[in-house]
Amino acid sequence: MGSFRFFLFKGEKGAFTITYFIDHKNKKIHDQRFAGDECGFLDTPVDKREFTAARDYVLTLESAEGFEFCTYCHKPQLVM
Ligand SMILES: [Zn+2]
Repeated sequence: MGSFRFFLFKGEKGAFTITYFIDHKNKKIHDQRFAGDECGFLDTPVDKREFTAARDYVLTLESAEGFEFCTYCHKPQLVM
């Protein structure tokens, strides 16, 4: 497990960085690269939209605030 966590840490330091698009109105977390019309954020006002690359922050939103990862732009390739 230790080496796996180290791999994730190295990934965040490199060129491969996911920018998360957080919809505070619908409590959804999108991947900015794949977010599209079917994600359902078009009626979310600009001040309810947030962009971040901080994965810890996103995971905190999910576990503590009840946010969900959008199924349209997050493919089931990352198994928690
Ligand atoms: Zn989405």
